[in-house]
Amino acid sequence: MTTQNVIADAEGQDLDRRQFLASSCMALSGAGVGVTAQRLLGQERPTQPDVPDIDPGYIGPQFFDEREEQALLEVLESGSPFRYWGPGRPTKVLRFEENFARYMGTRFGVGVTSGTAALDCAVAGLGVGPGDEVIVPAYTWWSDYTCVVHAGALPVFADIDRTLNIDPEDFARKMTPRTKVVIAVHLLGGPCDMDPIMETARKRGVAVLEDCAQCVGGSYRGKKLGSIGDVGIYSFQINKMITSGEGGAVVTNDPTIYERAARFHDMGTIRRVFTDRTGSSRVQTFAGENFRMSEFTGAVLGAQLSKLDSMCAQLRHNAEAIYEGIENLAGIRLRHRPDPEGDIGYGVYFEMKDKAARDRCIRELRQRKVPASTLTGSVLLPTEESVINKRTRHRDWPSFNSPQGSRIKYGPDSCRQTLEVFGRFVQVRVGAKYTRRINDHIIDAIRQVHNSLA
Ligand SMILES: *Cc1c(COP(=O)(O)O)cnc(C)c1O
Repeated sequence: MTTQNVIADAEGQDLDRRQFLASSCMALSGAGVGVTAQRLLGQERPTQPDVPDIDPGYIGPQFFDEREEQALLEVLESGSPFRYWGPGRPTKVLRFEENFARYMGTRFGVGVTSGTAALDCAVAGLGVGPGDEVIVPAYTWWSDYTCVVHAGALPVFADIDRTLNIDPEDFARKMTPRTKVVIAVHLLGGPCDMDPIMETARKRGVAVLEDCAQCVGGSYRGKKLGSIGDVGIYSFQINKMITSGEGGAVVTNDPTIYERAARFHDMGTIRRVFTDRTGSSRVQTFAGENFRMSEFTGAVLGAQLSKLDSMCAQLRHNAEAIYEGIENLAGIRLRHRPDPEGDIGYGVYFEMKDKAARDRCIRELRQRKVPASTLTGSVLLPTEESVINKRTRHRDWPSFNSPQGSRIKYGPDSCRQTLEVFGRFVQVRVGAKYTRRINDHIIDAIRQVHNSLA
């Protein structure tokens, strides 16, 4: 994996979008548009001017309407953008936390400034610290690694499998007596196989942190993601589902985890709104951060939450239509989905026989204006230079100074299965606003390209 590739993967959608728009311009050049893009790219391609542009776009903003506008105006007019006090008795963040926890089916919720902040709070909530090991999938976003290192604990990677999520068997293999937590990350809109993960974790007294940043609104066997393990986190950054640009949340049923997370998000102090929910305080003050959510954020998220079900329903409808259109192709290997009903339909995923076939497949799908790419939005963490070299902000940082921390070896050899899975999979993004014509075009393109490469 070259640095270039990793950067491209980390940039995820943004890069995809640019490349995709460029290729769309090229395809329109027959109509006199995009000639410049074609010259810039130095390529001549047959054009398909009758095919519509396919751009999945950013999901949350496609649903912005007067509800967000009204809620934002209320904050402006009240003169109270701060959640705890102000002339207009602020309630946006408070109500969002209550409604969000109710939606997820948990007792408690706390709104924070980002998904990364939510992970730091969850890890503080679980009491993770030096000497502890935390199991993290080898393919996920940076924050699942940094939250462990920030706590002074040791990240131990487990491979992903054909679910594109953590392999429950490799998780079991990577456990040691020092394992305190496993982070089950529901990547790319699809739930992890939670039953075996929960069973192994419970047997060994390991806590489960669900990272639902890429699967807000998804479920597993009828339970909303984030409500199955001990604590769940979400991101409301623009690439995710409901969005306020930036934002995050932590949910849990455990009053002690909740109080610790709420304290960590507010310098270690606790406000009445949180102890009112738990009945009483159980935890003493300790040093925390400021990850408090503003009322503007709470206002937008309140409006967005009311649309989460329809966002998921539209995405799912389109994803299922595409899956149905390709599932009977000879030799096709689709993403293994432990509970397809809980998939939010962020994309459609299938596997080619090797990396070369994958790259050709992506190229040919893009020529047909289909938004195809490698897996996006995450990083192959054990192959990153800063991870391999165990770099921290201080040389005496506890994470890698223990005997097991100095012994552990990262790098490509530590995550072969993940690299193989990553190298074979094709992603086709799904949009909430796709029409039947677009779904059909994508199905036809995948059928043609897959048949020609199989
Ligand atoms: C986006 C993301 C995060 C971090 O969320 P931010 O709001 O960007 O800080 C954490 N985990 C996963 C899996 C993500 O995709």
